[in-house]
Amino acid sequence: MFKVVYPGSFDPPTNGHLDIMRRAARLFDAMDIVIAVNPNKEYFFSAEERFEMIKKLVEDLGNVNVVIWQGLVVDYAKKTGAKVILRGVRALADFDYEFELSMLNKALNPEVETIFLTTDQKYFVLRSSSIRELAAFHGDISGMVPDIVAEALRKKFE
Ligand code: ADP
Repeated sequence: MFKVVYPGSFDPPTNGHLDIMRRAARLFDAMDIVIAVNPNKEYFFSAEERFEMIKKLVEDLGNVNVVIWQGLVVDYAKKTGAKVILRGVRALADFDYEFELSMLNKALNPEVETIFLTTDQKYFVLRSSSIRELAAFHGDISGMVPDIVAEALRKKFE
């Protein structure tokens, strides 16, 4: 079975993330979406909030599992027997960071490969941090995030 792990902060999940999730669910036998919890990082939505949102967004996909993981992604892959980490890339600027991250993960566990899916052109400008900023100023974020995420952001900034 070809299983992938798709890790990220997803703070909050955007239509760009969702597009990658849906395309990957068609490509691979199984996928674990791993909500990363880094104790040194501050998040806008709690891990549980991000978990609930993503769970709802992928509930129609039978081969997708959502988990919260406090630790290294390569350790999660090892624990679950996944051999591939999936990352999405938007512009060339993303690649710089993603390339280094994949080298780091490779050094930590050479058995686990990183593969990339390029974003859909509709979503290449979407970034969780910019969406949070837009929402803070009550900008129009419809079309950038799923409705349940727009609603959650609206509530936070009420
Ligand atoms: P990070 O935890 O590195 O900040 P995110 O949680 O924002 O990353 O995103 C998780 C993954 O989804 C990353 O591989 C990131 O490049 C990718 N991603 C983020 N936004 C998009 C988008 N609009 N289209 C495609 N991939 C994206």
